[in-house]
Amino acid sequence: KILDNKVALVTGAGSGIGLAIAKLYAKEGAKVIVSDINEEHGKSAVEDIKSTGGEATFVKADTSNPEQVEALIKATVDAYGRLDIACNNAGIGGEQATTGDYSIDSWKKVLNVNLDGVFYGCKYQLSQMEKNGGGVIVNIASIHGTVAAPLSSAYTTSKHAVVGLTKNIGVEYGQKNIRCNAVGPAYIETPLLERASGDMKEALIAKHPMGRLGKSEEVAELVLFLSSEKSSFMTGGYYLVDGGYTAV
Ligand code: NAD
Repeated sequence: KILDNKVALVTGAGSGIGLAIAKLYAKEGAKVIVSDINEEHGKSAVEDIKSTGGEATFVKADTSNPEQVEALIKATVDAYGRLDIACNNAGIGGEQATTGDYSIDSWKKVLNVNLDGVFYGCKYQLSQMEKNGGGVIVNIASIHGTVAAPLSSAYTTSKHAVVGLTKNIGVEYGQKNIRCNAVGPAYIETPLLERASGDMKEALIAKHPMGRLGKSEEVAELVLFLSSEKSSFMTGGYYLVDGGYTAV
């Protein structure tokens, strides 16, 4: 198994893409810290992983709270002794409005979770990885790390910023045996999209040259590759998994 003996942390692992990543990490032999703000979903993810022979522990944390993120990294080390892989996945969509009408509350909330939360994660993960002698970080951005999402300025801004943060870390830690990459999924069938109406879903599907939305498992395969030694010469990059969305 490609992640044997590795300790991996996934935020927002109670649902959707994060859940698929946590399950795949565990299937590939990693000991997984499943973290989420939602305790019920996080615990059920751990049961799911254990029922298939994997190893996982739930740690509750709100990624937009720096003290909780610092405690999460400490809890990871207390549980499994080190941190080799971290996937900063927790994120929210926010309100839908043109930029002139976008509420300041929603702007702050989206940036707080999608950007500040990823920075807090990286900050404490990097310190721990330096102590370990190395590690890998994968940040979940979006296609909206490179193209617009009309009516979601805060989301687009947060995801572009995550790509920038990822590049900086790649450059700063290139010679410290720590790699950091970002992933850009197009629209994926997860609970985040369940609120979309039928018409809206059809319109979204039409934007993907492959004629369908993606699956969480398809994102998880790219994340696994970037988290493993198979991507040993890749850092500071941004990789799409988008059914052709951004090629149009
Ligand atoms: P989801 O809503 O299914 O899951 C997100 C999880 O994150 C939930 O379990 C939620 O409880 C948790 N979470 C939310 N805020 C949190 C916080 N402050 N602290 C800790 N946990 C928190 O969403 P998803 O579709 O799986 O999205 C996961 C990531 O993928 C997000 O960063 C999202 O922006 C990104 N993404 C999603 C899509 C998509 O189409 N679904 C596309 C591109 C990128």
